[in-house]
Amino acid sequence: MAVSDHVDLPTFMEGVKKRNPHQPEFVQAVQEVAEDIFEFIQDNEDYHAQQILRRIAEPDRVVSFRVCWEDDNGNVRVQRGWRVQNNNAIGPYKGGIRFHPSVTESVLKFLAFEQTFKNALTGLPMGGGKGGSNFNPKGKSVREIMRFCQSFMTELYRHIGADIDVPAGDIGVGGREIGFMFGQYKRITNNFTGVLTGKGLEWGGSLIRTEATGYGAVYFLANMLATRGEDLTGKTAVISGSGNVATHAAEKIVQLGGKVLTLSDSGGYIHDPDGIDQEKIDWVKTHKTHRRGRIEEYVAAYPKATFVAGKTPWSVPCDVALPCATQNELLGDDARTLIANGCQAVAEGANMPTDLEGVHVFKAARILYAPGKASNAGGVAVSGLEMSQNSERRSWKEDELQQMLKDIMAGIHKSCLTFGDQGGGYIDYVKGANIAGFKKVADAMLAFGVV
Ligand code: GLU
Repeated sequence: MAVSDHVDLPTFMEGVKKRNPHQPEFVQAVQEVAEDIFEFIQDNEDYHAQQILRRIAEPDRVVSFRVCWEDDNGNVRVQRGWRVQNNNAIGPYKGGIRFHPSVTESVLKFLAFEQTFKNALTGLPMGGGKGGSNFNPKGKSVREIMRFCQSFMTELYRHIGADIDVPAGDIGVGGREIGFMFGQYKRITNNFTGVLTGKGLEWGGSLIRTEATGYGAVYFLANMLATRGEDLTGKTAVISGSGNVATHAAEKIVQLGGKVLTLSDSGGYIHDPDGIDQEKIDWVKTHKTHRRGRIEEYVAAYPKATFVAGKTPWSVPCDVALPCATQNELLGDDARTLIANGCQAVAEGANMPTDLEGVHVFKAARILYAPGKASNAGGVAVSGLEMSQNSERRSWKEDELQQMLKDIMAGIHKSCLTFGDQGGGYIDYVKGANIAGFKKVADAMLAFGVV
């Protein structure tokens, strides 16, 4: 007879904190999920007796390794690299690689944990993982970035594979870095296989992968607004970030008739009261990606805009908000300001951009609030479609993929309704996403027994 251990939420979280000292981001991500599904688990003796949540919150493995490389001046540089393989109950580990000085084991563990639920929500067979390094690509030459990527892959290659673990991009890792890493993988293994996603179109990449995260977040937002009989026409949007996710979210908002007021980077935000239209979005894309410029320079190109240094854009009044930069960029006070200014809906393009206090504020205000694991799943969903195309050795057409992305986002929205409808017209999307994602992974884990 299994003896189930019916601990309460605070006791469970005490254990998580004790086992993961100095890992605040990871503890935060587990807490956000545990708050929602503890009740659900209490009523499901099997999940409880089999310690499913406790097991999902303990990564299958964390690989940590040294990455040595030489800079352009011939200095030897040493960085730390990781791959966190959180859970592969429903498919090979899947999740991006992040290169940023803020990367720690805690950050990658939180991201791999979130990814497990997000990937389950897409309905595609993908487990959860994440990797990266504290390497800072800012200010590095292309040759330096190439040498770093090659060195990183020289260790990583032994832990990944098309049916084992399939990394992709994330902050600091785009098509160029995926190219360097794929080139090195192929060179070492002599194997041309779908081991990474976000590849170039000539070498196994998928159409619309680049656009998918931002577009998907706006599709999700449109689905949420539709539950209240509304759409994006004429709505003002505040967006943070100016990378791949933010610029494509902005593009889709504009296509659906909305007006984008802000974009940002780590230096501050720009506010353009005339709206950031497609031509301006194209300028930002070129400026940030090809010229590696700062968002501050937008005001020189478009003088009606203003730049606010060192601040996030949440004080600009808007109908909808899309945090598309990074974790914990929208705090409790920001959430209160957004609501006081009449914001009706928030869709997260980044991973865990809202801190726990902010999540509680949005929930208490009963606004339309989508957590990243639901609303930003479009990126990894199209990565899943890239894996399918690689296995099939063919490429699907753009309109087929566009439709699949829309259908997947609508499917995730529906799953959130199944478990998050609180009655009285309020849908708790955080609860819905957490329970739907958990249930799929949990049921697979039950089938495998105690492993
Ligand atoms: N880094 C993205 C995410 O946070 C994409 C991961 C992938 O495509 O595997 O979901």
